[in-house]
Amino acid sequence: SSAIDNDLFLHFQISKYGQGEYLVVIRDVSRVQKLEQMRKDFIGNVSHELRTPLTVVRGYLETMSDNSDSLAPVWQKAIGQMSQQTKRMTLIIEDLLTLTRLETEDTQYKECAINVHDLLASIANDARDLSRDKNHRFDVDAPDHFLLTGVPEELRSCLSNLVFNAVRYSPPDSLITLKAYSDNSGFHIGVQDQGIGIEERHIPRLTERFYRVDSSRSLDTGGTGLGLAIVKHVLSRHQAQLQITSRINHGSTFTCSFETSRFSEKPPADLEEEI
Ligand code: ADP
Repeated sequence: SSAIDNDLFLHFQISKYGQGEYLVVIRDVSRVQKLEQMRKDFIGNVSHELRTPLTVVRGYLETMSDNSDSLAPVWQKAIGQMSQQTKRMTLIIEDLLTLTRLETEDTQYKECAINVHDLLASIANDARDLSRDKNHRFDVDAPDHFLLTGVPEELRSCLSNLVFNAVRYSPPDSLITLKAYSDNSGFHIGVQDQGIGIEERHIPRLTERFYRVDSSRSLDTGGTGLGLAIVKHVLSRHQAQLQITSRINHGSTFTCSFETSRFSEKPPADLEEEI
């Protein structure tokens, strides 16, 4: 597809028709593009408009909660529930705004070479806080000298979503592995858990917004239902792919695969200098 100007979008399809003959189909997809743009703008605007009133409500709830000692238990419980649910709404709105930003072409962030080991170690550290009650073990298996070219904020958000999911959907004391490796097909970062697993039939739909395997169970875990949609968008902005393999009650592996051109190794000489 290409934009001829702001209002006209044409989709070109060229196929071989016969000996030395080609069939060119040009479709005017301006209407579809316009509707898609309206959808993105609408979600972005609604999320943005909801942010302020929600912040006000949360502020009042916090004040009420700080002064709730004299209230009847039923009211204390109600305030607690309202605080929890408004917090959830805030997280959903933040994720919707992140998705809207990722869907618009230009980014305010710049690409650079990122030390993969440091990034994974720092995400594992954040996840340790989230896993406090569940006491997961984290194994970061990435050589110190691997560099990945990308937008640091976006890649952090993508990998954090995968690691936080691993925490949410796996039992206490289990192992979560963050692994980086390169092979002939490219550079890969895998997040592996020993959790509940996902049935094969759900896998193709997991990156859809609000798609959940078991909505009642997922709501308990505190996710927004948008995590894997964010992962998909970040990866597509980095021309990367997501592969999901899983076995029920054994665990899942989410692997992000990048083109080799995004991968480099820091020469050992540089490492020595840093020491
Ligand atoms: P949520 O906020 O519900 O976790 P996501 O988009 O991150 O939303 O994930 C979509 C669904 O995929 C989840 O509701 C859950 O059913 C499933 N899922 C994601 N990660 C895992 C995992 N590591 N193990 C098992 N199921 C998972």
